[in-house]
Amino acid sequence: MTQRRKVLTGRSVASGIVIGTTRTVTSGAPAIAELSLPTGKLQAELTALDEAVRHTVAELRSLRDAAGKKIAGPLTKIFDAQLLIAGDVEFLNQVKERILADRKNASFVYQRMVTEAIAPLKDTSDTYLAQMANDIEAVARKVLSHLDGVAEDATVSFAANTIVVSDRFSPNEILSLRSRRAIGFIAGDGGRNSHMALIARSLMLPVVVLPEAFVEIADRTRVVVDGTSGEVILNPTDQECAEYNRKKKKLGPAMVGRIRKLSTVPPLTRDDHPIDIMANLELPGPVDAILSEKRIPVGLYRTEFLCLEQGGFPDEEAQYRIYNEIAETFAGASVTLRTFDLGGDKLPGDTLVMPEENPALGWRGIRPMLDLREVFKTQIRAMLRASAHGRLRILLPMIADKSELERARRMISQVMLGLRRQHEEYRKEIEIGIMIEVPSAALQVEHLLPHCDFVAIGTNDLTQYTMSADRNNALVADLYQYLHPAVLQLVKRVATACQRAGVPCHLCGEAAGDHAALPLFIGMGIDKFSMNPARIFDACRLVGKINREVAASLVPGVLASDSASDVQKRLAEFRKTLSL
Ligand code: PEP
Ligand code: MG
Repeated sequence: MTQRRKVLTGRSVASGIVIGTTRTVTSGAPAIAELSLPTGKLQAELTALDEAVRHTVAELRSLRDAAGKKIAGPLTKIFDAQLLIAGDVEFLNQVKERILADRKNASFVYQRMVTEAIAPLKDTSDTYLAQMANDIEAVARKVLSHLDGVAEDATVSFAANTIVVSDRFSPNEILSLRSRRAIGFIAGDGGRNSHMALIARSLMLPVVVLPEAFVEIADRTRVVVDGTSGEVILNPTDQECAEYNRKKKKLGPAMVGRIRKLSTVPPLTRDDHPIDIMANLELPGPVDAILSEKRIPVGLYRTEFLCLEQGGFPDEEAQYRIYNEIAETFAGASVTLRTFDLGGDKLPGDTLVMPEENPALGWRGIRPMLDLREVFKTQIRAMLRASAHGRLRILLPMIADKSELERARRMISQVMLGLRRQHEEYRKEIEIGIMIEVPSAALQVEHLLPHCDFVAIGTNDLTQYTMSADRNNALVADLYQYLHPAVLQLVKRVATACQRAGVPCHLCGEAAGDHAALPLFIGMGIDKFSMNPARIFDACRLVGKINREVAASLVPGVLASDSASDVQKRLAEFRKTLSL
């Protein structure tokens, strides 16, 4: 472990500058302190353990009930299995005996005995046993979270200016660490288009990925993290700290100030065509007010982050309040609320953990929502009720097949009928759109268009699934290229089909905020984009330099290219012709 000044260069995943002190953690299980206790304190440990198990059982039961009566078989089985594990009296008695014999704290003994119990299960290729190990770990995490004495209480704030270092972060870890006042992150792994990165960017928290070097960073080291350049300075000099503090001051309010300067929204191309520039949002944030002041619509509101923040599904009233607030904040501009896009790397706590060999190809997006019918209908009800107070639209994620869209629409119609019967207000003409982010949907888009009112092209997942390259995995980051001609052909295909059918289409993956690529997409005839708010100002400025006909001349060459690097070269050449 180095204690001297050292500069480490990694990958910038979320920009911004922070100066602070590191806390190193490992993803997954919390480190639990081993405490030797006097005999007089042991009874309190046994009582605390009983209480923690009782809370866990109650929580699992309510999760099972919250998921609705008609939940899918696999999920019922998971909760049942976890309830059996949580209620295993024999194991609990063994833990208690060991607490008394060793005179140690309950959380330490419990965690050690769980680790011993699952070791043989993990050491096998039997998927049933591996799943059982996962269930036991999930239950143990819940029990430990209820037990006092867990070394790192997840509700306790860090010291001021803490920068957390870990091998990796999930999106909900970023959320919970933010609520503990972490100001920045250094990770061993994570892609720029991972959900972890998206959430960090939306919260304006810098993240740098240092694939190997992150292990060199000792706990409580003073560091500068420059999320823009990807540099991390260990033990910086006072002069460096002062210099980065100056840089940081300039960066902070810059985004709001720049958006405020925009005069024409939506901006016009050189040939006077309006281009809608919209915002991707995840949670209520510091830029909402200025976006709404400028009447910038929200092209993608990722509602699943509400679940990640709360560690479960918010109930109808809580959702209604949130959607209503969004509708009111953005009154005058439309807001596209996407239904929960959970699964893959986006899981609220342990609630939906179902061991899957390929989570990105598994139960995610619209798929769990079609199975968890009550969860889906509750969300739709909340969205529809809020639609009475603003221009809300509903967006369905990850449609891969027409039958999914039909089933979702049927459920939406049922919810509408229920609202009418109860004389509840909602916008009757509310638009229902779909994300095109799976190659099958892009290739069959003509069959989907008659069943939806608008389309959002999600290049983040479309790239992952077209290139078969995990968006979270730094090892395949070279392959994960949204400018690959294969991805671009699908984007063009969808854009053309939408133009022919007269269905509005916007691009809302990270590619939408790529200024080099904007002329290409405009050349394809796309005239609506939704992006990270940090990209909005420059995108609006750039639009004014682009002539659509000239941009269209870029398209054939790009689509006929043989690689992403060739496309990048063409875009760079084109950019030189714009008077920037
Ligand atoms: C996408 O896949 O491009 C998208 C916008 O959705 P998300 O990034 O939330 O998966
Ligand atoms: Mg997606």
